[in-house]
Amino acid sequence: MREAVEQLLLPAECLLCRALLSFFGSTRLVCDVCRHRWRPVRPPWCGRCGQPEPSFGRCRLCAAWPAAFGLARSAVWLDAGAREAVHALKYGGLPRIAADLAAAMVGLDVPGLDSGLLVPVPLGQARLRARGYNQSERLARALGRRWQRPVVDLLVRTRDTAAQTALTPEARLANVAGAFRVRIGDCGLRISSERLESAIRNPKSAIILVDDVFTTGATLAEAARALERAGAGTVLAVTFGRAVVPDFT
Ligand SMILES: [Zn+2]
Ligand SMILES: [Zn+2]
Repeated sequence: MREAVEQLLLPAECLLCRALLSFFGSTRLVCDVCRHRWRPVRPPWCGRCGQPEPSFGRCRLCAAWPAAFGLARSAVWLDAGAREAVHALKYGGLPRIAADLAAAMVGLDVPGLDSGLLVPVPLGQARLRARGYNQSERLARALGRRWQRPVVDLLVRTRDTAAQTALTPEARLANVAGAFRVRIGDCGLRISSERLESAIRNPKSAIILVDDVFTTGATLAEAARALERAGAGTVLAVTFGRAVVPDFT
């Protein structure tokens, strides 16, 4: 309902470049031109974390990930236009833009997608109250509709963590340590706890974490750790954007 009203009130123009959107494109917030400017993340990359491979040696970004965390992929690099779209989703009160971001993620190559469960990375209570919605949950729902996979609210944040933006990779790890736990009951899926538990344990049915942005992967790795502790066989992750890792050295 709120989204229908929003659609009537907002002019049908692209959120990023203000070009008029065609009538048929009016459920979208970003025009084709802007969407095509988003720069896809492409190989060569580390087969596991999807980061461009270092010029020498092994990838260090994913070396300490829990064993169950098999793969992370992102749709586009977080350049200006993509960053603005993520901002609209997170801070602009425009959850509807999740459909545009999900459209960019549909083509991501995720093994075992056919039997996968989408799990949004949860927000802490304080941030959820302030924002009114979890942007990752909106993204997971939009993606779930496209992929026709169920969305399961399997994770809860045990505490509000500090914003990661200004932290070094090491500080990010410490900041999210133990920040998640798994809840089996009351996760929004109408199947028995037993069936859900066995689905989680089945290595062939992947738990696919969904988040808006991949920066160092610390948050996703911590979420994967909580799932692994709960017996998850395979954890994968998809994000819309991938930030170029800042050089802290
Ligand atoms: Zn545009
Ligand atoms: Zn890697």
